[in-house]
Amino acid sequence: MNADLHCHSTVSDGQLAPREVARRAHAGGVTLWALTDHDEVAGQAQARSEAQALGMRYVNGVEISVTWASRTVHIVGLGIDPSNPALVAGLFSTRDGRAARARAMSDALAELGIEGAYEGALAFVSNPDLISRTHFARFLVEKGFAASTADVFERYLGEGKPGFVPHRWASLEHAVAWIREAGGVAVVAHPGRYKYTPLEFDTLFGQFLDLGGKAIEVVTGSHTPDQFREYAEVARRFGFEASRGSDFHAPGEGRTELGKLPPLPSDLTPVWERWL
Ligand code: AMP
Ligand code: MN
Ligand code: MN
Ligand code: MN
Repeated sequence: MNADLHCHSTVSDGQLAPREVARRAHAGGVTLWALTDHDEVAGQAQARSEAQALGMRYVNGVEISVTWASRTVHIVGLGIDPSNPALVAGLFSTRDGRAARARAMSDALAELGIEGAYEGALAFVSNPDLISRTHFARFLVEKGFAASTADVFERYLGEGKPGFVPHRWASLEHAVAWIREAGGVAVVAHPGRYKYTPLEFDTLFGQFLDLGGKAIEVVTGSHTPDQFREYAEVARRFGFEASRGSDFHAPGEGRTELGKLPPLPSDLTPVWERWL
């Protein structure tokens, strides 16, 4: 089983259409796939039909932006019904505010001498409801302000950097509730990316379990091999199921290709067992 349960398309901040991501996943050897666009499920039907045409199993997915203890956490929902009204309304409210935030980011960048970032980022956007920092990053790279999108986050758009604009996303309670009401399983995405203290991490994982969250990503394109081991241990300690996903966004961007990560440690329970 080569499961890749986290990646993006042009429906959010990826650069390939859902059907193209499906083809790339299949070419990369993926046998069980989920497209998990940020705060949006508009790509699910296309992703599923292309996956099935290729003979790949498909699980519906989404990645919800959450604010917890004043920082952003991403919660992946797998096996959701994308037409569930609570989920649809929740995602709508989560997307709301991205446009105003993008204007504020553009203003912050203008103060640094980078003009026209809003319009520049928009040129990279396919879904106007889903303008994200990634689109700004691509614009800044294009204009030569940074060498790569990772470099943009390091210098301008990461938390606390001069172009960063704080934003309030969904609550953890709401995000997990929407996923569960839509019949899905909630998964903490790439925990190694969050800058919490050990105590905050334990509180986050405890609350997530209490809310009915089930799994964490252990093997993800956002983790180093040391973090695969670290979060495998967290999964054992809290009794979480484990997930695996590249977090693929675009060819040549980021560390990982679809389907190419190492397998989960064999003693962990894969979150996908329920869909086999
Ligand atoms: P937003 O939802 O607008 O805050 O944008 C978040 C997106 O920015 C993430 O989903 C990633 O695609 C991208 N991102 C965040 N941090 C980094 C980073 N350090 N390097 C590259 N991409 C990043
Ligand atoms: Mn992204
Ligand atoms: Mn994420
Ligand atoms: Mn992602």
